[in-house]
Amino acid sequence: TSVEDWARSDQYHNSFLHSKDEALDYALQNSAAHDLPEIAVSAAQGKLLNLQARSIGAKRILEVGTLGGYSTIWLARAVPADGEVITLELNELHAKVAQENLDHAGVSGKVRIIVGPAHESMRRLEPAPPFDFIFIDADKPGNRDYFTEAKRLVRKGGVIIVDNVVRYGRVADPEYTDQMVEGVRTLLKALEGDTDVDATSIGTVGDKGYDGFLYAIRK
Ligand code: SAM
Repeated sequence: TSVEDWARSDQYHNSFLHSKDEALDYALQNSAAHDLPEIAVSAAQGKLLNLQARSIGAKRILEVGTLGGYSTIWLARAVPADGEVITLELNELHAKVAQENLDHAGVSGKVRIIVGPAHESMRRLEPAPPFDFIFIDADKPGNRDYFTEAKRLVRKGGVIIVDNVVRYGRVADPEYTDQMVEGVRTLLKALEGDTDVDATSIGTVGDKGYDGFLYAIRK
């Protein structure tokens, strides 16, 4: 089975479950027009994040890795009018394009983009009031540091999700030793015996290929 088959399968399911969404389409087109890499979550994954945030009644969400704000739009739509999404991005162009996309989607009143290295930005954030939901999707070597800060910032019973933890099965394949794969392994090793969270990883396959999410609940 190839990525094309997986993409077709995603499109088939989405055709029943998703409606046409001008703001999300615009976000992807505007991001491509500014040459941002095409590494946003898929539509199905974005909607899953939205549903997961809503299922715990999330009001405060932290995102690590904004890119063009595609996942940010999904997350912003999950919080009520008095909720907030803080999203962290290193790259100024990405942040600028994301701001345009959030404005266009009509959600910028609920979103604050903080530009800078995510680890530093996270260390400056206070856990009062804490976050309900944290989505980690930036540089993979930073995963363990981001997860450590996320545990400090999230409420008890809150959710931490990390994207790209499977990487076509390469994370489990000793032949691969690149820094992305190693970044995931370092996180997994840190989670072994970590009594602060309960976690699992779940493979995903679709128009973004074969990858996976780590899903954790703060105890
Ligand atoms: N969450 C986005 C989505 O699904 O639409 C995709 C995020 S993309 C996979 C990763 C982003 O993290 C890129 O925009 C990159 O510039 C940013 N990034 C990389 N290193 C970073 C760092 N040290 N601090 C903050 N952001 C960083």
